[in-house]
Amino acid sequence: MVLDNFTLDGKVALVTGCNTGLGQAMAVALAEAGCDIVGLNFSEPTETREQIQALGRGFENVHADLKKTDAIPAVIEAAVSAFGKLDILVNNAGTIRRTDAIDFSEQDWDDVLNVNLRTVFFLCQAAAQQFQRQNRGGKIINIASMLSFQGGIRVPAYTASKSAIVGLTKALANEWAKAGVNVNAIAPGYMATSNTQALRDDKERSAEILGRIPAGRWGMPEDLKGPVVFLASGAADYVNGYTVAVDGGWLAR
Ligand code: NAD
Repeated sequence: MVLDNFTLDGKVALVTGCNTGLGQAMAVALAEAGCDIVGLNFSEPTETREQIQALGRGFENVHADLKKTDAIPAVIEAAVSAFGKLDILVNNAGTIRRTDAIDFSEQDWDDVLNVNLRTVFFLCQAAAQQFQRQNRGGKIINIASMLSFQGGIRVPAYTASKSAIVGLTKALANEWAKAGVNVNAIAPGYMATSNTQALRDDKERSAEILGRIPAGRWGMPEDLKGPVVFLASGAADYVNGYTVAVDGGWLAR
């Protein structure tokens, strides 16, 4: 039956930045669908751990600053030693710096590109190497943005990184589809998380944004639960290199 194809019973998912926001909702969704979860976090994911353990699933965490790649071997090792394998990678952690392009610093550029793109690539590579060792394929889901498709304002590094994520997702899908590895992305619209607090606090920008969302509301972290479970499941076995917008219709305008 088709719904059996959506279950993730016995799977192991690695979710970066799952202490809060979209990453937390996606980690909980994957656990609800049957996964044990490995987190890769800068901040202690206490609440996420409690929610996942309350579902009867396992949760392991590795501490990391994802501006650097040095924690990658340890997190793959943590998944394998705690749960015996890795099936799913969700590259959720991301950062944003808002400054006029004319004044944008090299430090901000490097920090954003390192977290949002460089480390994402090397996590994809490490997960794919692990999938290869297991010889059973796997699922990679990268988190893109509306700024994968549009230019944005005062966020040049973020736009560059999230635009690159769509290209990287296609490039990796092309190389790894044959091995049963599905690489796709989700592009969330304007979601109510700490990432958009500054935007939501700016009354004028906030009203402008809300005014062009056909669904008439900001997205909630829970809006990503169905899409991430779908892309992580056997139901998406023939979906490769695609970026799914979950945006209340923003891009349709
Ligand atoms: P958030 O600020 O609530 O969460 C960001 C997560 O990334 C946190 O867990 C944070 O600790 C982690 N992170 C940031 N820098 C890190 C670093 N150096 N090392 C380790 N972890 C780090 O924001 P969110 O809205 O939940 O964002 C999650 C993802 O969704 C990000 O990739 C973001 O760009 C993307 N996104 C968000 C929106 C939105 O409207 N909120 C829209 C599109 C895309």
